[in-house]
Amino acid sequence: MTDLHRLSIREMAEGLKSAQFSSRELTQHYLDRIAKLDDRVNSYVTVTPEYALAQADAADNLLKNGTAGPLAGVPLAHKDIFCTQGIKTSAGSKMLDNFISPYDATVVAKTKAAGLVTLGKVNMDEFAMGSTSESSFYGATKNPWNLEHVPGGSSGGSAAVVAADLAPFATGTDTGGSIRQPASFCGLTGLKPTYGRVSRFGMIAFASSLDQGGPMARSAEDCAFLMNTIAGHDAKDSTSVNKEVDDYVANLNATAVTGLRIGIPKQYFNVQGLDADVKARVEESLKTLESMGAILVEIDLNMTEAYVPTYYLIAPAEASSNLSRYDGVRYGYRCENPKDILDLYKRSRSEAFGAEVQRRILIGTYALSAGYYDAYYVKAQKVRRLIQQDFLTAFENVDVIAAPSAPTTAYKIGANLSPTEMYLGDIYTLAVNLAGLPAINAPVGFDKDSLPVGLQLIGNYWSESQLLSIVHQYQQNTDWHTQRAAIAEENA
Ligand code: GLN
Repeated sequence: MTDLHRLSIREMAEGLKSAQFSSRELTQHYLDRIAKLDDRVNSYVTVTPEYALAQADAADNLLKNGTAGPLAGVPLAHKDIFCTQGIKTSAGSKMLDNFISPYDATVVAKTKAAGLVTLGKVNMDEFAMGSTSESSFYGATKNPWNLEHVPGGSSGGSAAVVAADLAPFATGTDTGGSIRQPASFCGLTGLKPTYGRVSRFGMIAFASSLDQGGPMARSAEDCAFLMNTIAGHDAKDSTSVNKEVDDYVANLNATAVTGLRIGIPKQYFNVQGLDADVKARVEESLKTLESMGAILVEIDLNMTEAYVPTYYLIAPAEASSNLSRYDGVRYGYRCENPKDILDLYKRSRSEAFGAEVQRRILIGTYALSAGYYDAYYVKAQKVRRLIQQDFLTAFENVDVIAAPSAPTTAYKIGANLSPTEMYLGDIYTLAVNLAGLPAINAPVGFDKDSLPVGLQLIGNYWSESQLLSIVHQYQQNTDWHTQRAAIAEENA
């Protein structure tokens, strides 16, 4: 079969169970596509053919014995921020170009235990800091919809592999939008779960109070399958929450769209820099939801202006602390011929961290320094609480909140936005992480340059099932999520 990559995850799982094809065939199909097409997309940092085929054979055995779990034999790609035992985990940085983790992240261990097949590790902004995937040590990943544009970031590789059909779905992480924004730029569905729903163990830390892993795929249904595999409490992550996990697949039709109250924040649609096409497509998608029975309710989110400054204090502050471990001593990059220990620290870090990472470490260190701690860090934490309160108040009146995922569609590669311009592009995603809420991106059409536009739905705590269900039903009524970039239509 030449078009195995066109199947949904459900169809793949069914095809494997009914022996229409084996996991080895399916895996080889993707490996062939990667070999033929990834030169143009630059989405994989590491492809693991032998490892993948061995996992595929193991899954085929389970499938033959009838002991396979629901996803056994289905391939996926992991963002190169999840530690994988025996396989390089770079976080997109020269600092970890030589790093091979001695253990698997919990997310990786769970996908392995479910019999999923790891095709490889995919590109990202260095240490997940960025919105374009251009800051990677391994070069920019291309947007499959237009190879001159970025796929978004930081999970740009995860988005690109799915949009180019170089993996059926992928893991991503979201600290301030890194699942939702690349999903938006690449026409995909991506879910950022409630903080604590997915284990952070073995996920290289950027800003620990904001980081959360989640699925990126074509549809809400595909995301639900991956959520069923990766969600849940983990004793190895003290911030993971011990709360029953929903069956996201079984619940895909469980939320009634009829009567669903969708909040439309006034402030979000008056943001300077909101592209007219993005605004139009998002509004059209809301009309569709309205025609399906939802009730659109105008709401206020008065803290909107505080999102960017608050996040860009807290995230760098946590990053400066988390990244202090890369000192050239225990693992990672070490400079040549250090004169003394200070020279070792200084040159290892200067030579191996890129400009954006260094900028964040400097901002964060400044904000945490004795003289400025109260003025910046403590103040930002107080504002963070107010931002959360704004959402809690809104959820007294509405079930979910709608927004664009990003004010624009995908930038051109090399557009060279100033740091502040790039940070402002995160206006719609940051508050969700500051508040710890779940949110999903769904593709809702294209702009005048045929680049995808995304709708974001933000839910109350633990409403992942509800978000997936709403998007699933929207996708039953529309076909944006089934459209494919030209490169995805090419055969290996
Ligand atoms: N673009 C945001 C940043 O640069 C978010 C990144 C993320 O979610 N990892 O920090």
